[in-house]
Amino acid sequence: MRLLVLFSFFIVSLNLSAQKPTPVTNSKPKLVVGIVVDQMRWDYINNFKPYFKTQNGFLKFVNEGASCNNNLISYVPTVTACGHTAVYTGATPAIHGITGNSWYDNVLQRVVYCTEDASVQSVGVENSPAGKMSPKNVWTTTIGDELKLATNFKSKVFGVSLKDRGAIIPAGHSADAAYWYDSKTGKFISSSYYGKTSLPNWLNAYNSSNKVDSFYKLGWALSLPKTVYEANCDTDENDYEANPFGIDAKGFPYDLKKFIGKEYGKISSTPYGNNLVFDVAQQLLINEKLGTDDITDLLAVSFSSPDYIGHAFGPNSWEVLDNYIKLDEILAQFFALLDKQVGKNNYTVFLTADHAVAPIPAYAQKHKMPAGAITDNGVKTDIGKMLTAKGLNPSLISAVTEYNIHFNHPLMDSLGVSQEKLVTLITNLLEQKNDILQVIELRKTAMAPFPQEIRERIINGFAPQRSGDLLFITKSGVVGGGYKGTGHGVFYNYDAHIPLLWYGNGIKKGQINSINYMTDIAPTVTTLLGIQMPSGTLGKPILEVLK
Ligand SMILES: [Zn+2]
Repeated sequence: MRLLVLFSFFIVSLNLSAQKPTPVTNSKPKLVVGIVVDQMRWDYINNFKPYFKTQNGFLKFVNEGASCNNNLISYVPTVTACGHTAVYTGATPAIHGITGNSWYDNVLQRVVYCTEDASVQSVGVENSPAGKMSPKNVWTTTIGDELKLATNFKSKVFGVSLKDRGAIIPAGHSADAAYWYDSKTGKFISSSYYGKTSLPNWLNAYNSSNKVDSFYKLGWALSLPKTVYEANCDTDENDYEANPFGIDAKGFPYDLKKFIGKEYGKISSTPYGNNLVFDVAQQLLINEKLGTDDITDLLAVSFSSPDYIGHAFGPNSWEVLDNYIKLDEILAQFFALLDKQVGKNNYTVFLTADHAVAPIPAYAQKHKMPAGAITDNGVKTDIGKMLTAKGLNPSLISAVTEYNIHFNHPLMDSLGVSQEKLVTLITNLLEQKNDILQVIELRKTAMAPFPQEIRERIINGFAPQRSGDLLFITKSGVVGGGYKGTGHGVFYNYDAHIPLLWYGNGIKKGQINSINYMTDIAPTVTTLLGIQMPSGTLGKPILEVLK
């Protein structure tokens, strides 16, 4: 037997040595770039395709890489913090713990912000809570954490975004740093969580260049002829749009000079927010020498301005189209930078969104489609009035956040009000409302008379420490918030259908039309890199995109 094995080995060796050595073509990427566009609908790519000014932005992914055309979010609520966490952990809120941008914490009995951390200090801004942030509320590991573990912490891992949560969560627990925008000072800042008490010199230099004011000086003008917007969008000025630049600034071109030297938050609602994030990513890439050796690094970038612009003006606006025309050009610059700094085929990029968005309700109604608006506060007030009318204490409800209704269990116990009683009263009240489809008792979701696919997404979003007792499910087109602007957060496809694009080392060219989920992104990246999946990953690698 042993002889036979030896003999076979000899034959195999002979065969191999007879062939020419094959060149190594399957080396791992030196850098993975993850791009999350905060609030991007999948259909934007097709709708805006004829108007992109370059083939090297979104269309580079589509034409030279892979596009997953039916990528969905497999949990609720479909909001920013949950989305960024699901992309980088491959898990859903039930496992990674980020149940909202904020949640009512049933243990602490107060509202908690997803990345708040009182134990750390702001870096790059004095006397401000803006940097007292960390990823400690995320319960599982991220792609970056696994990369660190796989390389004995030699990989470099960074996150950049306008929003703190858009930078901190994707960078992960063991990141080298995350940088985000402080809307009070107009500077990019960080947290002492990352082990430094001051910003790197390159970031201080960028902050001193005061780019925000130079962008304000330019104002926001359209990139394409007016006729393109007239042909493809709603009218420019509408009463149902929000007015982030003031009540008198209703249409193009937007003069932004009045914000110079102050009101640094306004830049977020312009395409220049994307320029700021790209500038910092570029400086980071160069100065931290990402992708320059054989140990794979990770750069997680999140563009937040599309979310601010989308909320204010809606997906059918001139502002959104123009923002994407400009973001497309930034992506082309990003690819050119990566080719130059890291080298063609030495990097892999994926682009996705944390969530999509609903049409503005009044716009949908104008076109006879079902729509409405509802607020957490409005629901809380209505429940309070009902309880008072029944002779019960309105404080029996602790909070209503992200469609979750939290009961005040200590008060229920002391007043002798049963769970069943509150569930019945509130369900009866809310299910009579025009905008509400159904109320679900979260501990009993598995038994709810509701389509299984959506029941699973509700269960995927449930964490007992951070979720409510009840979830109210709105009808299609009903948006959380007022009648000006729009929102996202539910399971309907306008919120849950997001782009997923791939390009670069290890990526097979193609259009993938089968259903995939946001949680498939992390295991696809870790399979590409040959490293362990994040600890809580529920998704599957998308094999069609891998060579
Ligand atoms: Zn949003």
